[in-house]
Amino acid sequence: MHTTGSRIAEIRRRLGPELLILGHHYQRAAVLRHADAVGDSLELSRHAAASRAPRIVFCGVRFMAESAAVLCGPGQTVYMPEMSAGCPMADMVRPGTLEAAWRTLNRNAADWLPVVYVNSSAEVKAFCGRHGGITCTSSNAGRAFKWAFARNRRVFFLPDEHLGANTAAELGLPDAHVLVYDYKREGGGVGADALSRARVALWKGFCLVHTAFTAAHIAAAREALPAARIIVHPETPREAARLADARGSTSQIIRYVQSAPDGATIVIGTELNLVQRLAEEQRERVTVKALAPSVCANMAKTNEANLLAVLETWDARRIVRVPADVAAGARAALERMLAL
Ligand code: SF4
Repeated sequence: MHTTGSRIAEIRRRLGPELLILGHHYQRAAVLRHADAVGDSLELSRHAAASRAPRIVFCGVRFMAESAAVLCGPGQTVYMPEMSAGCPMADMVRPGTLEAAWRTLNRNAADWLPVVYVNSSAEVKAFCGRHGGITCTSSNAGRAFKWAFARNRRVFFLPDEHLGANTAAELGLPDAHVLVYDYKREGGGVGADALSRARVALWKGFCLVHTAFTAAHIAAAREALPAARIIVHPETPREAARLADARGSTSQIIRYVQSAPDGATIVIGTELNLVQRLAEEQRERVTVKALAPSVCANMAKTNEANLLAVLETWDARRIVRVPADVAAGARAALERMLAL
């Protein structure tokens, strides 16, 4: 009997180098076992850019597949198993509100440079590229801020307030120089004085998965497991993130666990699928626990059944398309990051 998994394996064997399947760390193990490369946003962007495969299937969320479509060559097509797998945080920035914010910022102070987290739509990345800015991931946000400051500019960071606040704090920027631009309020809810003093303006966006982690979770973990080390993803709000022993991107969290001494206990605040996989992979050596169970519902939309469906049908409705003018701006911002 042919199972879904064996049919996927057979198609992969048949297509060989004609097919590249990319899988984000937050995917389920059942999906990742079919991936040619598993990684975080930055690593998968690099794979897409380096690949020659005519068909790329992206198991992740839409903004990631868009970045792959922007970076790959003209003879390559990017597919998603499930087109409705978006990112609520990326959707918190719309081109219209972004342009209004940009006008407000520039009316009150000069020298803003956009630094855009890759968890954003291609249109937002294109805005960034058009205005001379750079994209970043959670692993290189600090370097992207320094890149902007080296050009003697103020940073307009979007869409994740918390990654921006954690990055500014790690770079030693005083709180008084960091403000939050609330896109739901008139003028962002910030005054001209505050804007003229600011070095960093943070878009008030957030990730539902990582804002689930609180200072109370950290206190409870410390009480239950006093010898444990706690690491959280920098999309975690600063009140909690500052209480952890370390903060790190997905890849940095993986390295933290892999380099922990034998017998260690590590509590992790990030998406549950990754935590569970690390716990399984490392169970002979270290104990890995979730700070709290928090799952990305959009990542979970990809499964073996819709992966097989795309591989069997190559349905054009599952092609990720980015208009050429948008792709050009987004590529400029992404390539600045890849060159960092
Ligand atoms: S984990 Fe958060 S940022 Fe990542 S895709 Fe899910 S909602 Fe978006």
